Amino acid sequence: MAEPTNPSEIARETLRQLAMRRTPPTPENYLRLYHEIAGTQPAAAPVPERFVRRIAQQLPRDTAERQRLARQLDQALNEADTGAAERALDQYMASLSAEKPQAWNELIATLLRQWEGRQLGWTSARKRESLERVLGASDPNTLYTRLQALLRAWGQAPVDPERPASGDTPELPEQTEQPLQATARAAPAAPTTGALIAADADPTELIDGLRELIALTMESVLPAFLAEHPELISDARLIANATRSATDARALAVVGKQLRKFAHRLELTAADDSEVRAGLLDLLKLLLENIDQLVIDDQWLGGQIEMLRDIVDKPATPRLIDDASRRLKEVIYKQSQLKHNLSQAQLMLKEMLAGFVDQLASFAESTGSYHDRMGSCARKIAAARDISEIGHLLDEVMTETRNIQIQAERSRDDLSATRQRALDAEKRIDSLHKELEEASHLVRHDQLTGSLNRRGLEEVFIREAARAQRHEVPLCVALLDIDNFKKLNDTLGHQTGDDALVHLSRVVRENLRPQDTLARYGGEEFVIILPETTLEQAEQTLVRLQRELTRVFFMAGEQRVVITFSAGVTARAQGETIDVVLARADAAMYEAKQSGKNRVVRCKIAQEAGNEAF
Ligand code: GH3
Ligand code: MG
Ligand code: MG
Repeated sequence: MAEPTNPSEIARETLRQLAMRRTPPTPENYLRLYHEIAGTQPAAAPVPERFVRRIAQQLPRDTAERQRLARQLDQALNEADTGAAERALDQYMASLSAEKPQAWNELIATLLRQWEGRQLGWTSARKRESLERVLGASDPNTLYTRLQALLRAWGQAPVDPERPASGDTPELPEQTEQPLQATARAAPAAPTTGALIAADADPTELIDGLRELIALTMESVLPAFLAEHPELISDARLIANATRSATDARALAVVGKQLRKFAHRLELTAADDSEVRAGLLDLLKLLLENIDQLVIDDQWLGGQIEMLRDIVDKPATPRLIDDASRRLKEVIYKQSQLKHNLSQAQLMLKEMLAGFVDQLASFAESTGSYHDRMGSCARKIAAARDISEIGHLLDEVMTETRNIQIQAERSRDDLSATRQRALDAEKRIDSLHKELEEASHLVRHDQLTGSLNRRGLEEVFIREAARAQRHEVPLCVALLDIDNFKKLNDTLGHQTGDDALVHLSRVVRENLRPQDTLARYGGEEFVIILPETTLEQAEQTLVRLQRELTRVFFMAGEQRVVITFSAGVTARAQGETIDVVLARADAAMYEAKQSGKNRVVRCKIAQEAGNEAF
């Protein structure tokens, strides 16, 4: 079929094609197909003028070029010159793609390069000034374009033959580091000193520098603060060496782990140090506050000072300080009580002596007046003229003599009573002195075995529990009860029983570590506190003690007696008081008795508590 040429044929053919192609008969589809068949171009669609003008107004005019092109577009629109408008717009779009923004890192690298370049007319001061102005931009995009323009300006300036490049002389801009980091800032930052090395330093150099810094800190700086802890100093030196020789990532990771551990130990040491310091201060305060109480008895005071000197001479540990402080407090308390009694006794004695002297004085006085009266009676007797007069005088003499006799008897009685009271007072003073000497020891120790008593036990438990909690280490407690002790008492006597208790205490103490504590809980029951000990280790310790007791047997006269005990051991769970822990240990001990004695039973509850047992 021939190509349709007139409009009505074209229109008919268009409708036919629409139907054939099953194209929806919309005006747009009809128009497009019509021109296809006619071989013509559709007329340009009219664009709303207001819309185009608004777009033109919004175009950024941030460079001279874009400003020029945008202005051309405005003009073309004003003149309704579509062709000119299209050209202006095309050129404008080309300007955008030509200046596709570089990445910030490239821009900064350019800045660094240009900063060090020697451009004619661009002194460092001028560069800095213009850079500060650019940095005043209020948003990152503007900042970016302005910075880019500035760098282009620097880059296009000819080389200044007068000035050396900054590679030759280190004329580093004071502000470089600051503005580079402050890209989003509205105002330029105040000048600071800073070097450029961080911007282009080799990362391996940085790592080496850091390694050296850590090593120096560990071997030179830290030891100055750790004079009291030589073991930490030597560890710090080891870590310093390890840091220096750690050149690969794996070795560095190992050093990192060591450092973290070391830091943890430092923390603990600091806590202990402050405890020691606080403890020493408390001790000093106690001494100062109570010095007047302590000077009452020179010998006794000497003993106390000896004890404190002992403690101060050794390297102070929280444990030692704690111990000294508690002992001193007890002693001061006991002594203040005793001192009161003692001064009262002394006062009484003085009063009695004063009374005695008074009595003697009055006795002397009355005998003096007796003599006087006797003298006057004698004179009167000599001058008496008749017997009746003498009889009268004799009566007087008799009365005086009787009086003096009564008074003498009374004085003698008083005297012997006073002497008796003075003797009593002296005895009391003596016993008070003795009590005073034993005071410090007895308050916390069991008199028979010398191990701690209940009160001492409670104090040690509280202290150890706090320490265990702080250092996150386990604390175990064992309760042991001698087997068949009643039988030993009954067959060998109470005194032998006492000796057996002393023997057991001695053997146990000799086989414990210095930090373990033995206390007599009552009768033939003992408690052992085992710091930093797991339940398994505690059990092993008790079994070892049982073995020792069978090896080092007790001699009752000529007779060898093997002492055995049953024990329950348990670990203290966080926050538990001594009563709770002992109740559990007691239950375990009971189980040991029930299952045949001479055994050690671990407490199941604490076992289940697992890691929380500290
Ligand atoms: P078990 O194996 O079940 O513990 O039997 P046991 O005989 O050891 O225990 P029981 O509780 O029946 O007896 C304890 C005895 O310990 C009774 C008491 O007279 C004696 N005892 C308590 N304190 C002392 C002391 O200080 N000295 C002496 N010699 N004996 C004491
Ligand atoms: Mg018992
Ligand atoms: Mg018993």
